[in-house]
Amino acid sequence: MKSEGSHAAFARARQLMPGGVNSPARAFGGVGGEPIFIDHAEGAYLFDIDGQRYIDYVGSWGPMILGHAHPEVIAAVEKAAARGTSFGAPTEAESELAELIIEAVPSVEKVRLVNSGTEATMSALRLARGFTGRDVVVKFAGNYHGHVDSLLVAAGSSAATLGVPNSPGVTAGTTKDTLVLQYNDVAGLERAFDEHGKRIAAVIFEPVVGNMGCVVPTQAFLDALNGLTKRHKALLICDEVMTGFRVAYGGAQSLFGFEPDLTTLGKIVGGGLPVGAYGGRAEIMHHVLPEGDVFQAGTLSGNPLATAAGIATLRRLRDEPPYATLEERSRQLAEGLDDAATRAGIPHTVARVGSMLTLFFIDRAVVDWTVSESSDTARFAKYFWGLIERGSYMPCSQFEALFVSAAHRPEDIAATVQAAAEVLGEISAHAGGN
Ligand SMILES: *Cc1c(COP(=O)(O)O)cnc(C)c1O
Repeated sequence: MKSEGSHAAFARARQLMPGGVNSPARAFGGVGGEPIFIDHAEGAYLFDIDGQRYIDYVGSWGPMILGHAHPEVIAAVEKAAARGTSFGAPTEAESELAELIIEAVPSVEKVRLVNSGTEATMSALRLARGFTGRDVVVKFAGNYHGHVDSLLVAAGSSAATLGVPNSPGVTAGTTKDTLVLQYNDVAGLERAFDEHGKRIAAVIFEPVVGNMGCVVPTQAFLDALNGLTKRHKALLICDEVMTGFRVAYGGAQSLFGFEPDLTTLGKIVGGGLPVGAYGGRAEIMHHVLPEGDVFQAGTLSGNPLATAAGIATLRRLRDEPPYATLEERSRQLAEGLDDAATRAGIPHTVARVGSMLTLFFIDRAVVDWTVSESSDTARFAKYFWGLIERGSYMPCSQFEALFVSAAHRPEDIAATVQAAAEVLGEISAHAGGN
């Protein structure tokens, strides 16, 4: 495989940026080796600077549900750019995107646009604390909500103790108000509310986890989240940055049928440009400045190019819903990978909700971070590089969900399944058949 171009580009980038990247997830740290530098993308394909084509299952880590360089999105961005790239004053396009979000997501009555998912979750937490007058936030191990200080926290020594920082630079003071529990653990959640109920401002969670690989919530867990937050007058923050407009047009909350107090969005709502959003009941959103006194602002928030890309993407998803096709293609991929791993005799499990899925190299269902973490990451690395050599670009970590887009054709999926069967067969042979 030709990689001289990427190798040289990476050598240069490493001189200039920490690790040669602007976000660690793209550095291939979980699989070893060097990242592939991209020249351009179209539909389901990425093209690297060495001229190789890959069927892309990363989709910029979620936003590209319509496929890359979708003509309607590109046209909308070009049109907006010609009219000026930023005004720092209101535009009608912001109301248009807000309207699309409010119409789509059942629990959102009012929304504020920001520039990233991180900003959305950070702002939602501040609002929840401002609204309730309480300090403690509950999060779940393995759920990722962006690089918000108070959420970069590892679990304490027991389930109901407060968290400890898991990045240098995050102060103990910041994290002492964060409680880290195991996902899908109803008893743990009940214990936390028993012990700290009056201090809990909010529970934030991924309604389908993408950030420890794809992990599906149990109905009992969703019921407990809804019931306990209501009973203790804490807010439920549903982080749909990944799942919003992905697992269903109205997000995971419309798929599973519940109404959180606050919802955070990002990724697809920006159509591949930097956008985030947080919204919820009007009564709560009313507390955001300038209507209320919870501070939150942004020079580029509601940016004309970003809102144009978001509007074009959401309109397309609303008017020509790809969800049935996405379901079909994703099932084809999930079943194909499952079958290939079974034939190779490799212990595995596949988790999927709509067009989010993960092949875990572990022999049991993944319900939380403790299980996910014990997957065979060395095996995953071999699988990843085998697929790269055969032209399929998967997320470079066992702990990330892959995404299927509306641009993937059955032939693309079949090619990837074929490649996976070859790679898993080779891995199995090297491992002596087990
Ligand atoms: C990606 C992601 C974020 C962070 O969004 P950024 O735009 O990367 O800041 C937050 N929450 C979830 C669930 C995500 O998947």
